[in-house]
Amino acid sequence: MRKEELRTPCYIVQKANLIRNLEELAHIRKQTGCKILLAQKAFSMYSLYPLIGQYLDGTAASGLYEARLGAEEMGKENHVYAPAFREDEMEEILKYSDHIVFNSFHQLQKYQEQVKKAGGSIGIRINPECSTQEGHAIYDPCAPGSRLGVTIENFRPDLLEYVDGFHFHTLCEQNSDDLKKTLEAVEEKFGVWMHQMKWINFGGGHHITRPDYDKETLIECILHVKEIYGVEVYLEPGEAVALNAGSLVTSVLETGENRIRLAILDTSAACHMPDVLEMPYRPPLKDSGLPEEKMYTYRLGGPTCLAGDIIGDYSFDHPLKEGERLEFLDMAIYSMVKNNTFNGMRLPSIAVEEEDGNITLVRKFGYDDFKMRL
Ligand SMILES: *Cc1c(COP(=O)(O)O)cnc(C)c1O
Repeated sequence: MRKEELRTPCYIVQKANLIRNLEELAHIRKQTGCKILLAQKAFSMYSLYPLIGQYLDGTAASGLYEARLGAEEMGKENHVYAPAFREDEMEEILKYSDHIVFNSFHQLQKYQEQVKKAGGSIGIRINPECSTQEGHAIYDPCAPGSRLGVTIENFRPDLLEYVDGFHFHTLCEQNSDDLKKTLEAVEEKFGVWMHQMKWINFGGGHHITRPDYDKETLIECILHVKEIYGVEVYLEPGEAVALNAGSLVTSVLETGENRIRLAILDTSAACHMPDVLEMPYRPPLKDSGLPEEKMYTYRLGGPTCLAGDIIGDYSFDHPLKEGERLEFLDMAIYSMVKNNTFNGMRLPSIAVEEEDGNITLVRKFGYDDFKMRL
């Protein structure tokens, strides 16, 4: 199929771009001997898991469903971390999982016998209380009062008997200088116990596949930890796996004017790109400019009744026409996994652009996908 034949809205994941990212991640694995997992929270398009599994070591999950998906569709190493596990799900989670990471020593005590009996490796998430990001407080697990990870104050060296590894996750879209800073805090606070661990998991948020990412510093950090503590190192990036590997194609439904030119699209920020409102950020749009940069500036909004369902202001070389298609970029990550059908919106179809440019439709959605959850 050709792109023009797709019904919009539709996510298209470009296989060539995904493979380019996977090759960069495979390079880090090869240089350091670390293991890299796909954090499914960012990207759970499982039709591509067999391909991803050719380059990475497995999947990271945040609970039962992601754990099951990883086991069913990739079938390699499967690691699960959850802020709190449910008693009625633990047995099933253990069927799918190799590593179980607990968020507190209370959770550890509650489940450690069960995990050991099932043959799982146990980790504890630590919180180095080292904030390295400004601006996005909702993405900072090191913020004061955070529920994520055990701080040094709550740390219990007396309960490490069953613990095989430490896990920390503090970064979001960050470069390796921030990882280095974080590692210094981790070592200063928890280093004395790292020697007795089998593995250390550096979490996600490493923007490894971004052009300006400093891979050498990442490699140094990994080799340093492996050498000093004699542990295996895991990374579990989500974004970096599918960064700039997908777009969201949409059509202009209507244009109008109210002090500024307006266009209503068949895709919604609130339903189909919620991070645009949550983060918030302005998604890149192909062949467009900043407001006033080009001749015709439009405020692009969604088809819902929410006044704030605004994607942003963009300028174009020509006036927008009904039926015209627009393509938002970098839409593979934190998009499909966060979709909703608010206001009865149809979910965007999901397609793959093969390396030869041909498009394969993976999934399309309809009325039942809206109705069945209500
Ligand atoms: C979100 C998350 C990741 C992935 O983060 P990215 O920013 O997508 O790389 C990895 N591990 C944990 C525990 C997470 O919560």
